[in-house]
Amino acid sequence: MIWRLVFFLVKLVALAVVAVLAVSLVRGLLWRGGARLAQKREEREQRDSQGRPLPPSGRGFCDQCGHRFDQVFFMPSGERRCRRCYDDMDRE
Ligand SMILES: [Zn+2]
Repeated sequence: MIWRLVFFLVKLVALAVVAVLAVSLVRGLLWRGGARLAQKREEREQRDSQGRPLPPSGRGFCDQCGHRFDQVFFMPSGERRCRRCYDDMDRE
């Protein structure tokens, strides 16, 4: 009779250990997936639609369309372009 109780308790503890391991494994996998997504997003934000690194940027007026933006790119030629005019440059 007592052995049944001991066996039951051992099973209960083993089940709890497995549950804790499973939860931490799932959390670890989710965290890794989230970190990888964040890294990809960061890489994408630092490159243009053609995959080239973006030039330095800052707040200012776009020389092409004349509007003010929180992010304009300072081209090597000295010209400033907003994101849309910068992307349009490839289609011209
Ligand atoms: Zn513009």
